[in-house]
Order: sequence, then C-alpha cells, then structure tokens
Amino acid sequence: MLPGILRKAALTAAAAGGTFLGATSLKLYDLKKHASIASCSQNKPEEYLDVLPTREEQLKSLQQEDVEYDVLVIGGGATGTGVALDAVTRGLKTALVEREDFAGQTSSKSTKLIHGGVRYLQAAILGVDIEQYNMVKEALRERSNFLSIAPHLTKALPILLPLYDWWKIPYMWIGIKMYDLVSGDTILRNSYYLNTERSLDVFPQLNETDLKGGIVYFDGQQNDARMCVALALTAARMGANVANYVEVTSLVKEMEGTGPAPPKEVVKGAVVKDTLTGKEWTIRAKCVINATGPFTDAVRRMDDSTVRGICQPSAGVHITLPGYFTPKKLGLLNAETSDGRVVFVLPEQRTRSARSPPVLFQAKRTLNSFLTNAAS
Ligand SMILES: Cc1cc2nc3c(=O)[nH]c(=O)nc-3n(C[C@H](O)[C@H](O)[C@H](O)COP(=O)(O)OP(=O)(O)OC[C@H]3O[C@@H](n4cnc5c(N)ncnc54)[C@H](O)[C@@H]3O)c2cc1C
Repeated sequence: MLPGILRKAALTAAAAGGTFLGATSLKLYDLKKHASIASCSQNKPEEYLDVLPTREEQLKSLQQEDVEYDVLVIGGGATGTGVALDAVTRGLKTALVEREDFAGQTSSKSTKLIHGGVRYLQAAILGVDIEQYNMVKEALRERSNFLSIAPHLTKALPILLPLYDWWKIPYMWIGIKMYDLVSGDTILRNSYYLNTERSLDVFPQLNETDLKGGIVYFDGQQNDARMCVALALTAARMGANVANYVEVTSLVKEMEGTGPAPPKEVVKGAVVKDTLTGKEWTIRAKCVINATGPFTDAVRRMDDSTVRGICQPSAGVHITLPGYFTPKKLGLLNAETSDGRVVFVLPEQRTRSARSPPVLFQAKRTLNSFLTNAAS
C-alpha cells in the first residue's frame, strides 16, 4: 500500500506545476475518486528489479526516441522522488530527472523533524480552527507512517520544553497532553513533567536562573537526505527511469485539440541536458510535473515567460555546533525567544568524542546566554 505522504506529494507537486498540468492531470493522482484512471496502465510493477540499473542504463532508457512517458518529474528532492515513486507504483511509465545530486537542495537541509506541530495544535485550539487541527492530524499520521516504512532512517526524539514561569507549567502540560491525546494510537511516547533539578540533570546546559522545570514530549526525527535517496532508488527499482545530473533546459510544447474549441498549446515533454557530458535530448511525456521546490518559478517561466512568481523564498537558519552543546538523545524547544520565533536545539548524527572541561564550560556559558536572552 502506498504511504499517504506520496499521494500528498503528488498532489502538492501537481498543484505547483499546475500551469502546465491542467485539471486532468491533477485528477490522475486522486486514486479514490478516479480509480479507473489510476489503474490505466497494465504494467503495474509486481516486484522490485533484482539489480538496480546503473546511471548509464537509465540514461539509455531516457534517450530512447520512440518512447513517451506517462509522467516526467522535474526535480529529485523529497517531492519529486515521492511523486516518481507514487507514479511508478500506480503503473505509470515514469521518468525523473534531477540536475544535481538527489536531495542536493532543500531536501538535505531541513531541520530533520517529522513533527505533528505542537504549535499548530495550539493555534487550532485557541483559534477554534478546524483546518489547523486537520493539518496536525495529518502530520501525525505521516509521522507514524515514516516510522513504520523507514524505521532505519527515522526515530522518536524526546524534546524538552523548559519553563521559566510557574503558571506555564499547568498551561503547557495541558497543551502537550492534548498533543498526546490528538496523536491517539500514533503516539510515540507519553509526555511528562520534570522538576527543575531533573531538568538540569537531563539538560545541564540549560540556563538555571528562574527555571521552574520542563516538559518532555516526543516527536520524530529523520535523515532527510537518505530518505530522499531511498525514495529515488525505490522508484528506480520499481521501474522508473531516474537520473541525476540531468537538467531540464526547456519544455516541449505542441498544439492540441480538435472540434469547435480552438487548439491550445500543451506541454508534451522537456529538453534535457546531461550536465556531466553536455549531451542534449528530448524526453516526451503526457504529463510533466514541476517538483523543483524553490526553483519552481524558473520552470514555470519555461512554460510562460510572463507568468508571475508564486514562490517567495524565506530564510531558515541552522547553526551546526559541536555535539557537547546538547545531551546525546534529548532536544530542546525554546518557544520564548525575544522576537517570538521558535528555536530548536537538536542532537543530530552524534559521534562519540572526548571533550575537556573548559570546552564544556564554554558550551554551557554560550547556551546560557542564548537562553537568558530568550527568557527575558
Ligand atoms: C530551513 C528549513 C527547515 C525545514 N525543516 C523541516 C523539518 O524539520 N521537517 C520537514 O518535514 N520539512 C522541513 N522543511 C521543509 C522541507 O525541507 C521541504 O519541504 C522539502 O525539502 C522540499 O522538497 P522539494 O523536493 O520540494 O524541493 P528541493 O529539495 O529543493 O528539490 C528541488 C530539486 O529540483 C531540482 N531542480 C531545479 N531545477 C531543475 C531543473 N531545471 N532540472 C532538473 N532539476 C531541477 C533542484 O536541483 C532540487 O534538487 C524545512 C525547510 C527549510 C528551508
């Protein structure tokens, strides 16, 4: 059975590439409502290929002149690889091209959290917002899904929420317990309260001034880049033609339509370039999906150079620090920064190393000043 996230990814990507996908292509992805379309192909793969094709073999397949794919996916990030796997497992003849490494862009630079969204739940409850609530429910389902389909790349991560006011203890405790409750049977572990002493025990780097305790709750953490590569490889093993270092340079368009309505120009594939050799060729496809994330407008402008941008980049900052800044297996959520933004301090790919006391002292001082600022 296909994980829900893949179906969602397909819908998201299809929506992003909507200018040249059109309503018919969107329908193609809705299995439940359009079962007859989704089962259109007879070549639904029964099992994995025993041997993963090499890049050369994949390129050879992609360069066959007489082949028209059902779906050509542009972009090998989380979205594109998910869409390709979704498409190929529905029996659609699928191609995926990525101009750099798989997960080379956003999909290797996320915070690596699979979270249901504690904050969204707060917004849902305080704002009586059913949309936000549904989003939290869906995210929690996806979290559980990832843990079950990729347990080697995903894990439950305890996260400490330090509290510096007495009144926040019951307030946050109720909020986090509601998160547990909404998780239902997808709950990872029950959240719990720690007094000041225990909080400092488990997270010695905390600023202890005015600390009233903390609440530990659980969310998911995953290796985003490896997950993305796993999706690309799985799509390839299911029969998709998948290649990296192949860039879409323009779209192929043809006039289509008979009858009283005037014919219109539709996208029928893309011109691509092997960025390692410079070789160019055309890949023909009934449906082209723009899954290029932050680069989406560049591809949309290949379709229509006058189109207005729909992507507004915004910054997210990650600072990578030595491992001694956090306990080995416990993260921290600071929701009380001076400008209202949320800061996570998370352990990531920790390796064993010996550290001298002065370095530990320095670490504690730095984190203290950061949290002091946050608590003020
Ligand atoms: C700071 C930050 C933190 C985040 N934290 C989280 C988190 O904790 N949890 C979470 O779930 N999500 C998180 N996200 C969101 C998540 O990272 C993104 O939603 C996801 O990676 C987007 O994947 P994508 O495939 O759409 O884009 P990308 O990964 O950027 O993939 C697009 C790909 O398209 C390729 N491409 C572009 N143009 C072409 C072309 N012409 N031809 C061929 N290929 C092309 C690019 O090379 C790129 O690899 C975070 C995002 C950011 C920015």
